Amino acid sequence: MTQAVTETRDLFSKFDALIAEREALLATGVRDPFAIVMDEVKSPTQAVIKGKDTILLGTYNYMGMTFDPDVVAAGKKALDDFGAGTTGSRVLNGTYQGHADVEAALKEFYGTSSAMVFSTGYQANLGMISALAGKGDYVVLDADSHASIYDGCFLGDADIVRFRHNSVEDLDKRLGRLPADALKLVVLEGVYSMLGDVAPLPDMVAAVRKHANCMILVDEAHGMGFFGPNGRGVYEEQGVEADVDFVVGTFSKSVGTVGGFCVSNHPKFEVMRLVCRPYIFTASLPPSVVATAATSIRKLMHAGEKRAHLWKNSKRLHKGLTDLGFKLGTDTPQSAIIAVILTDQMQAVSMWQALLELGLYVNMARPPATPAGMFLLRCSLCAEHSDEQVEQIIGMFAAAGKATGAIG
Ligand code: PMP
Repeated sequence: MTQAVTETRDLFSKFDALIAEREALLATGVRDPFAIVMDEVKSPTQAVIKGKDTILLGTYNYMGMTFDPDVVAAGKKALDDFGAGTTGSRVLNGTYQGHADVEAALKEFYGTSSAMVFSTGYQANLGMISALAGKGDYVVLDADSHASIYDGCFLGDADIVRFRHNSVEDLDKRLGRLPADALKLVVLEGVYSMLGDVAPLPDMVAAVRKHANCMILVDEAHGMGFFGPNGRGVYEEQGVEADVDFVVGTFSKSVGTVGGFCVSNHPKFEVMRLVCRPYIFTASLPPSVVATAATSIRKLMHAGEKRAHLWKNSKRLHKGLTDLGFKLGTDTPQSAIIAVILTDQMQAVSMWQALLELGLYVNMARPPATPAGMFLLRCSLCAEHSDEQVEQIIGMFAAAGKATGAIG
C-alpha cells in the first residue's frame, strides 16, 4: 500500500519533530544507532557487524547462556520433538510439557509455590500489574520504572503514584497520603537498568510495611542470575525474600532466550491464569524456547563461579572508565550495568560510533527512556567476557574518548 507524502495533517503529524531530529542527526554522517545488524554472532561476547569483528558490551546476556552447549542442545531437541511453535494461547492449545517444565524449573530456582510464564518480560509486567491493580486501586512506583510497569498501570486503569527514584522517604510519604483502606501495589526494581543502580529494598520494604493494604512486586529483570547466593536477584541478596509478594523476571537477559515470568507464594496465585489478558490473548512461547529456558535456569542455580567472574569484570570496567575520566551512572559498581553519561546527543552518538568503528558495541540510550534527560552509553558485562577483553574494552574507550573529545 503506497501513499503520497503530503503536507496535510494526519495521525503521523505528531511524529514530525522526531522525524526531523533524526534526519538532522543522520545528515551529519553518523550511523543510525537504532539500525545495527549483527551479521554473525560467534559467542555471547563476539559478533560480526558490517564485516568487522566486534566485542559485544550491550546485550544484557549477563551469564552468557545463549551459546551454552546444554541449552542449545535442549532447544534443538524440543524443535525436533515438538515442532516450531504452539500456534496457541497458554489457556487453549498452547501449554506443552515444556511450558509445565519451565514453570517447574522456576519454582525450583526461586523456591516458590507458583510460577507463571509469559511470552515476554514486558507482558509479565503488563499482565501482573493490570490484573492485580484495577480501577480504584493504586500502583505506587519508582519514577524511573521500566515502560512495561507504567504500561501495566495503564492497561489495568489503576491510579499511578510515583515516588522519587530510590527515595525511601518519598515512598513512605506518598503511601501515607493514600486512603488507608485502598488496595495498593508497590512496584520496585532490583536493578534500575538505565544507570545500573540497585534499590535499597530492606528500607523500602520497612517503609511499605508501615502502611495498610500493600502488596509488593519486585522486577528482577536485571538481578536474576547475578545477585544472591542462588542468583534469585537483589531481593535475595538483600534478605527480603519473605517480604516480597511477587517477583517478575525475564528470560531475555541472564537466562539467554526470550520470555517472562512471575513467581509467588500467594495461595490464590493460580487464578492469575484466568484473568491476565497478556497471558490469555497471545500465543505461548515455542517449545524450543521453553526448553532452552528450563535448561538455562537449572544451570544458573549452580553458577557461583560465573557470578564471581561477572563481579570481577564489572569492578574492573568501572575502575578503568573512572580512571579515564568518564562520568558514570554510579560512583561504585553496583551491578553488571555500567552507564557512561555524556553531555548531549551529538557527543553520545560520536562516542558510540567511534567505539563501533574500533570494534565495540554498546547500547545508546536517550530521553525519554533515560532519567533526567541523560544521554547514555550503557555497557552491560557478561560472565563470558575474558580479563583480556575487559582490558581491550577499556583501551577502546580511551581511544574513542580522546578522538571525540569526551575525555581530555
Ligand atoms: N523489566 C525491566 C526492568 C526491563 O529492563 C525489561 C527489558 N529491558 C523488561 C522488564 C522486559 O523484558 P523483556 O525483554 O523480556 O520483554
